[in-house]
Amino acid sequence: MLTIALSKGRILDDTLPLLADAGIVPTEDPDKSRKLIIPTTQDDVRLLIVRATDVPTYVEHGAADLGVAGKDVLMEYGGQGLYEPLDLKIAQCKLMTAGAIGAPAPKGRLRIATKFVNVAKRYYAEQGRQVDIIKLYGSMELAPLVGLADKIIDVVDTGNTLRANGLEPQDLIANISSRLVVNKASMKMQHGRIQALIDSLRRAVESRHRG
Ligand code: AMP
Repeated sequence: MLTIALSKGRILDDTLPLLADAGIVPTEDPDKSRKLIIPTTQDDVRLLIVRATDVPTYVEHGAADLGVAGKDVLMEYGGQGLYEPLDLKIAQCKLMTAGAIGAPAPKGRLRIATKFVNVAKRYYAEQGRQVDIIKLYGSMELAPLVGLADKIIDVVDTGNTLRANGLEPQDLIANISSRLVVNKASMKMQHGRIQALIDSLRRAVESRHRG
């Protein structure tokens, strides 16, 4: 059995067509089903529906052989526990700092609100800046508006959410897209099958980006 961990939403919507090109189609619509384990048209391939931030955990521990996770999630997860053999070029966005439009630089230490605590620590440490990091789980845009933080770090697509809240994107931390990740032991034990799947997905990605 090959088990592939995916999260609902953007990643699922954009990954299903790539999997279909590789001959893997869920036997029921994961968006409508309440099931968390979804069989596919290939008897020996199943999908696990998990939270986006949990995908690396399932794959690193071998509960899933493969997974699809945003580079933002992988950067925050860290570690060397996963292979990342393929950029699927889906769910593309940017990981950025953002702050209130025209806000003056704070007098004391910069306060950064984010769910990407590890990314934030690394980013400011590389710049030699001491900052206070405030962990949030969502609605980061609110933090500068109510004085909880000076800036946020978040993923930005069109920037509309930032602008709707009087914020502006500032510094680019990383370009983000979703990546295929593979459990290291699975890659050894089921090398032929997994490599064949990676190759099919690579062809599907390339055919979409050939124009
Ligand atoms: P935006 O288009 O910049 O207004 O983004 C809309 C919302 O979706 C924001 O809250 C972003 O944080 C989030 N978002 C945008 N692109 C992605 C992505 N590829 N993955 C996850 N969240 C995203």
